[in-house]
Amino acid sequence: MTAATLLSYDDALARFDPVLGLEVHVELNTASKMFCACPTTFGAAPNSQVCPVCLGLPGALPVLNERAVAAAIRIGLALNCSIAAECRFARKNYFYPDMPKNFQTSQYDEPIAYDGWTEVAVDEAAYRIEIERVHMEEDTGKSLHVGGATGRIHGASHSLVDYNRAGIPLIEIVTKPIIGTGAAAPVVARAYVTHLRELLLSLGVSDVRMEQGSLRCDANASLRLGQDAPFGTRTETKNVNSLRSVERAVRYEICRQAAVLTDGGTVTQETRHWHEDTGITTPGRSKEQAEDYRYFPEPDLAPIAPDVAWVEQLRATLPEGPGRRRSRLQAAWGFSDLDMRDVVGAGALALVEQTIGAGAAPAAAKKWWLTELARRANEQGVELAELPVGPEQVAQVQALIDTGRINDKLARSVFDGLLAGEGTPEEIVAARGLEVVSDETALGAAVDRAIEANPGAADKVRAGKAAAAGALIGAVMAEMRGQADAGRVRDLILAKLSP
Ligand code: ADP
Ligand code: MG
Ligand code: ZN
Repeated sequence: MTAATLLSYDDALARFDPVLGLEVHVELNTASKMFCACPTTFGAAPNSQVCPVCLGLPGALPVLNERAVAAAIRIGLALNCSIAAECRFARKNYFYPDMPKNFQTSQYDEPIAYDGWTEVAVDEAAYRIEIERVHMEEDTGKSLHVGGATGRIHGASHSLVDYNRAGIPLIEIVTKPIIGTGAAAPVVARAYVTHLRELLLSLGVSDVRMEQGSLRCDANASLRLGQDAPFGTRTETKNVNSLRSVERAVRYEICRQAAVLTDGGTVTQETRHWHEDTGITTPGRSKEQAEDYRYFPEPDLAPIAPDVAWVEQLRATLPEGPGRRRSRLQAAWGFSDLDMRDVVGAGALALVEQTIGAGAAPAAAKKWWLTELARRANEQGVELAELPVGPEQVAQVQALIDTGRINDKLARSVFDGLLAGEGTPEEIVAARGLEVVSDETALGAAVDRAIEANPGAADKVRAGKAAAAGALIGAVMAEMRGQADAGRVRDLILAKLSP
């Protein structure tokens, strides 16, 4: 696996205009599967959530999950789509061991929702993303390739299949070609998926966890010679399983395709695989090898004809639009435009909102998510929401600070403990001995020692230079291993040294 020749991003953008297309698959969080009553719990023992329908046994008949249809319609409405008066499922025929029926029940030319749009904000600019369609389908099972070094089928000695995921309701959201993003293309791609994630979260229809595969993105990209030129040939990059990777994969494809075209070559229409570790894409299936899925209407399911009154009822359940929500929260929290942009850009809006809901002050909630926790998420290469620390816990840590039991520095240790799964903030403070020393006698003694050890600084404070107290405060904090309230220490020092 070798990296292709790349053109620098700036050179690529100087010569070509990128066009994107994003296909996002989202697993719904319904309690049962799309066409049977099997549970959908993530992480259950392999093949413990299966039945004749989702195992594709002969004669088993599907029964449509109404809640999944309701969720699909709500997603369509939230994306400003038209809802089909009538639509059907289709069979997408292909053989693969993780799909026991040998066809996937999907929607083909009759999606439940179509022709929508949504708006994505990146820095100052807003991009309108046109939605081609929102359709329903079912997820496949999962293959596990055993015995090889990579977990891929190549080199494996045998494969195992888990059908728990087979039949879980899946919604595919497909954009129309996204044009006019220019150099911002990779960032817009990421911002769109981030935005979609928040939208789906606010609809409450999915866990949208990219690392667990409940949100998956295929990124199409092509280059053309200019804004008025015809579209170039696209590639479709699969396996892009984090927001960061969406941006990286699009950027990589732009640089790779630009090199191919500049060299006089042609871009092959193909699927490509994203490699998180090396940051490159490699060829998958080319269009010549593309399968003919022999789609035909599903004979075992009646067409869906959502009642107009039902659609309106579902429309009434939509949360407020993202723009309105943002302005409402900004006003309530007293954040500047810049603060708000930082929060939204970090994908932390819902987390900050929930942290405030759990009792933390807005500034504190923002601070922890955008500094300490953002740094750790970045180090681990995960999204904020994927950290094993939630809003409730952040609020509990802040409450410990507000009541003077720990300070900001000790809070970082509490976060270490939370990330290591050591229990609740309260338990971690106890187990790690993090409580600040509030014993006045102990503090007073430490202050006396600091004054004795730093006579120069003490004299300056005595002479009225309060700023010189810093050195003394530092000495006390060092002795207390940070476990003192710096404000209290300062007060004690000034009191002892006042003329
Ligand atoms: P496929 O079956 O190949 O996945 P889809 O229609 O499901 O096709 O998705 C193709 C995606 O690529 C859509 O988002 C579409 O808007 C986008 N697209 C189509 N043509 C181009 C192009 N030339 N460059 C970039 N994206 C494109
Ligand atoms: Mg597709
Ligand atoms: Zn089942």
